[in-house]
Amino acid sequence: MSGFLDEVQERYPDYYCRPVPPFGASEARFLIVGLAPGMHGANRTGRPFTGDHAGILLYQMLHKYGFGSRDQSEAVNDGLELIDCRITNAVKCLPPDNKPVGAEINTCNAFLANELELLPKSSVVMALGGIAHRAIIKARGLRQADYKFGHAALHDLGDFEVLDSYHCSRYNTNTGRLTEAMFDDIFAKARVLLDK
Ligand code: URA
Repeated sequence: MSGFLDEVQERYPDYYCRPVPPFGASEARFLIVGLAPGMHGANRTGRPFTGDHAGILLYQMLHKYGFGSRDQSEAVNDGLELIDCRITNAVKCLPPDNKPVGAEINTCNAFLANELELLPKSSVVMALGGIAHRAIIKARGLRQADYKFGHAALHDLGDFEVLDSYHCSRYNTNTGRLTEAMFDDIFAKARVLLDK
């Protein structure tokens, strides 16, 4: 464990404070890639996007479009099941200051590369934010200049498609950069892609 996570664990003995594993079956055809565990969210609960604001809209949308058995994720033992869906992060551990730096993104890129390698045929990968998008492009060994991040952009990477969305962070939803209607449209698009 890193020194930083040890310190956080001392301050919050009940928190998970380890690399947060993906949530959902490895055979799922819909992979959602977030940024990194939030201090009082995934770092506390041990499940991506669980326990903080960023997960509220995400799990609602997953339920609405048939990817989740319930519309809320509260804890690893809450019985929630994902359906043909898996959620992971570009960075697996809580980053200092809640902001991942290049070194962490690079260190974790091999894990993401492995997850992408294992995706079944005709999968769809949703990139939540530019950092997740670039981590995916890097993990596939592709040129960033050929695949620019853009909200609602769809990129054909050969083995799978990447659908970009602004991150569902509290900042983005509070400022209106990402509205519920915009996020809903992204999920509707993902559903159509996976059902075709
Ligand atoms: N929680 C996560 O697990 N990932 C994010 O990107 C944000 C919050």
